[in-house]
Amino acid sequence: MTTLRLILGDQLNPCHSWFQEQRTDVIYVMMEIRQETDYVLHHAQKILAIFAGMRDLARVLKTQGHRVRYLRIDDVHNRQSLPANLDALIEHYEAACFEYQAPDEYRLDQQLATWCAQLSIESRMVDSEHFYTARDAAARQFSGRKQWLMEHFYRHMRTTHDVLMDAHKKPSGGQWNFDHDNRKRWPGTPFEPEDMRPRHDHSALWQSIVEAGVGSFGKPDAEQLAWPLNRHEALQQLEDFIELALPHFGDFQDAMSAHAWRMFHSQLSFAMNTKMLSPREVVDRAQAAYRSSAAPLPAVEGFIRQILGWREYVRGVYWAQMPGYDLLNAFGHDLPLPSWFWDGQTQMRCMAHAIGSSLDNAHAHHIQRLMVIGNFALLAGLDPAQVHQWYLGVYIDAFEWVELPNTLGMSQFADGGMLATKPYVSSAAYIDRMSDYCKGCYYDKKLRIGERACPYNALYWDFFLRNKQQLEANHRLGMVYRTLGRMEEADVVALQEQSATWRGNLDAL
Ligand code: FAD
Repeated sequence: MTTLRLILGDQLNPCHSWFQEQRTDVIYVMMEIRQETDYVLHHAQKILAIFAGMRDLARVLKTQGHRVRYLRIDDVHNRQSLPANLDALIEHYEAACFEYQAPDEYRLDQQLATWCAQLSIESRMVDSEHFYTARDAAARQFSGRKQWLMEHFYRHMRTTHDVLMDAHKKPSGGQWNFDHDNRKRWPGTPFEPEDMRPRHDHSALWQSIVEAGVGSFGKPDAEQLAWPLNRHEALQQLEDFIELALPHFGDFQDAMSAHAWRMFHSQLSFAMNTKMLSPREVVDRAQAAYRSSAAPLPAVEGFIRQILGWREYVRGVYWAQMPGYDLLNAFGHDLPLPSWFWDGQTQMRCMAHAIGSSLDNAHAHHIQRLMVIGNFALLAGLDPAQVHQWYLGVYIDAFEWVELPNTLGMSQFADGGMLATKPYVSSAAYIDRMSDYCKGCYYDKKLRIGERACPYNALYWDFFLRNKQQLEANHRLGMVYRTLGRMEEADVVALQEQSATWRGNLDAL
């Protein structure tokens, strides 16, 4: 009696309990399919790295003696969709049982559940053994509340999992959050650590992807693919981060520079989201660095909060709000993405760098995603569904369960403030404070009106004017509306006209 076990492209965890025993009656199935390359237009490196990582895991499993059936993108037997391939394989192997690990995306979860429901053989979904929390943990914690505050969730997680807690069940260092220490501008030193990520030549794989007709965008970098493709490489990347960057992570967590696209961030999101690394081991390793005085508490706390807090929390939001969360559009924004989202050719230096980095590296760090690109999209009034599709496609770490709440909720406020207490927007002043982008920019950060005025300025004020009805009562925005109230009528009109000019021709910026 044969059992087929499906391994999805973001389930590259060789430590899963499935693999702890060798069974001759089990065949592991992995497939490179158009269904997964085509549901959104992806960055070239994302397709390459996932396929290369899948091939690597298949190799490791075979070396360990497991039976693996791997369907390559150009395999003549590949029917390019999960159900079609699985139907054929069940028939071919005369399988009597089908098992799969819980998918993280609603789309796949539904597809597999629906397909299993019509199977005439036994089927079973098992845990992916990756996350700290169950899918419904956040929903249970916030049951009945309108606003789901991450900080509450995070403190609960710290206590439950005994992370950065002292012997008296109090947070290490006497406080839960060191955010106020973590907002420094980067003066150029300490130097950004060397990029220690592994390099791979996957030009042959890239050629087969192109020949199969898979569409993509961004720089493939197939001869120098710089992402970890297996657990061994991911663990090495973790160690390099802990040693070289973590000590400065806190200080410069929000800093941006045209001369340093990685700054002191870990770039571990791809390895974690494809499950090469578990969040638990990353958190434990960072905590050990603090305990051994290899990194200061504010840096370690800031880093751990992202994983133990934000990462688990947004997953909880996703599962509580799907289906339908992807359709929310609280402000009714409907402008299409400007053309330079696809080539980075804009005169706004901050945008050119943040989008350029995204297109070149399939990565941009959090503040670039939130306070440069997302900030602009929200101020300009871009359609949140299109913004979501772009983020889902461009980033190497983008899987809907984590990307959607970050983009639609945190960044675009399209859920009306369930996830964020106020819209994450700013004028040029914030970008200038946290970066070196404004120096040398075509636009003038100090000007609000005129052809050379920084577009963020008029767009910022006009955003609050346009959405006054929805936002004025928000107590965190009192200062904004008081400032607007003190402005001369003529100045307000000038800001509105300037914003209309920008919004009427975003491609020209
Ligand atoms: P670091 O700065 O080194 O942080 C460490 C880890 O913390 C990350 O690897 C990640 O696993 C986790 N983390 C940090 N912030 C968040 C967050 N807000 N939500 C969830 N996990 C977090 N992250 C993704 O993994 N996939 C996405 O598709 C994604 N889309 C985003 C879209 C927008 C609009 C925004 C504002 C943020 C998004 N993030 C996403 C969160 C964050 O930007 C990335 O996790 C981070 O930039 C990855 O780089 P890093 O590994 O160097 O992170």
